[in-house]
Amino acid sequence: EMTTASIVDNFPALRQSIGDKSLVYLDSAATTQKPQSVIDAVTRYYEHDNANIHRGVHTLSQRATQSYENARKNIASLLGANRPEEVIFVRGATEAINMIAQAWARPRLVEGDEILITEMEHHSNIVPWQIVCEQTGAILKVAPVLDDGSLDIEAYKSLLSEDTVLVSIAHVSNAIGTINPVQELCAFAKEAGATTVVDGAQACGHLQVNFQEIDCDFYAVSGHKMFGPTGIGCLLGKYEVLQEMEPWQGGGDMILSVSFEETTWNDVPFKFEAGTPNIAGAIGLGAAVQFIEGIGYETMVSHEQELLAYGRGVLENIEGVTLVGASEHNAGVLSFTVEGVHPHDVGTILDHAGVAIRTGNHCAEPLMRRFGLSATCRASLSVYNTTEDLDRLGLAVQEAIRILG
Ligand code: PLP
Repeated sequence: EMTTASIVDNFPALRQSIGDKSLVYLDSAATTQKPQSVIDAVTRYYEHDNANIHRGVHTLSQRATQSYENARKNIASLLGANRPEEVIFVRGATEAINMIAQAWARPRLVEGDEILITEMEHHSNIVPWQIVCEQTGAILKVAPVLDDGSLDIEAYKSLLSEDTVLVSIAHVSNAIGTINPVQELCAFAKEAGATTVVDGAQACGHLQVNFQEIDCDFYAVSGHKMFGPTGIGCLLGKYEVLQEMEPWQGGGDMILSVSFEETTWNDVPFKFEAGTPNIAGAIGLGAAVQFIEGIGYETMVSHEQELLAYGRGVLENIEGVTLVGASEHNAGVLSFTVEGVHPHDVGTILDHAGVAIRTGNHCAEPLMRRFGLSATCRASLSVYNTTEDLDRLGLAVQEAIRILG
């Protein structure tokens, strides 16, 4: 049983100093730190089981295959998939969304069809749709965001029509932390006859996700934002929908039989996993799932919500600091600006104080524009953060104002 006080001990990278200051890591929305168990799982695979999967009859290949497939089962169970076959391993949320755009949408869209996204999307949930619109003549529609950073749900509903073929929405905004009511939003989309995609990159490391309950057709998962390695993620897809799809990439493992006259496809999910996958990454992600289960989402949510409220208090008490998109239903993201100081300069001074935050447009340029900004400072939280971290953030921001404000 892990308490939130002891959780930090699992993360070796958090035990270091930047200059003479102990590290305060507040950039988990960019990538989370990795627990020792994940690092060990990846090392163990390379030290003991390294072999290619699915093809070998020898012991190492069987072990590697079993670990890889166990990881798939762990993820399916954590995220409430109907069956492990609904989990396709990909590089990350970006690749998951690109796969849907090219393998699902491109062959189906015709001129005048509409894709609906929101104004708070990450570039990886915008650009793949712009590309497929260019390829097919479909039109990209955008549901606006309200001043508090929440989605304008009435406007969203009014943008849904019989022309809407696909809807793609962030579960949690990376730039400001808004948690969207995706189950409700997907139900409206489905009434309009649309296929639904949820970008869960910022959700799975923070809150309980249930693919079946959300009832979307596709759900994109980022491994490195949920304590797993980089270069691994998943596309969750409804089994029937995946079965109807043609493969995206051709190569080894995705075929049943190949001849120059005719090639037939392997079953779901292998049909979508051409070539040697990131075996070590998948195994590491499986260990990350076990790490999350060891803590439990309930503990994670209550800890992060407490920190969020505390952090908002710290920042609101500093004159010249303005929170951006601090809506009622937010995950652990504190997006803010400092009067008279450019976010990049804030970030540099914070780094000197050992405090790691992100500054810039957070790959969400349209959302920044919506708020009349080109950049913000973003402190993002995870289960290993503490109120002391937020006190250090507050002191460092005050220092930045003293020096540059
Ligand atoms: N979607 C959102 C909301 C994100 O925050 C990110 C990463 O920053 C992505 C998608 C892309 O995820 P990945 O790094 O797994 O490709």
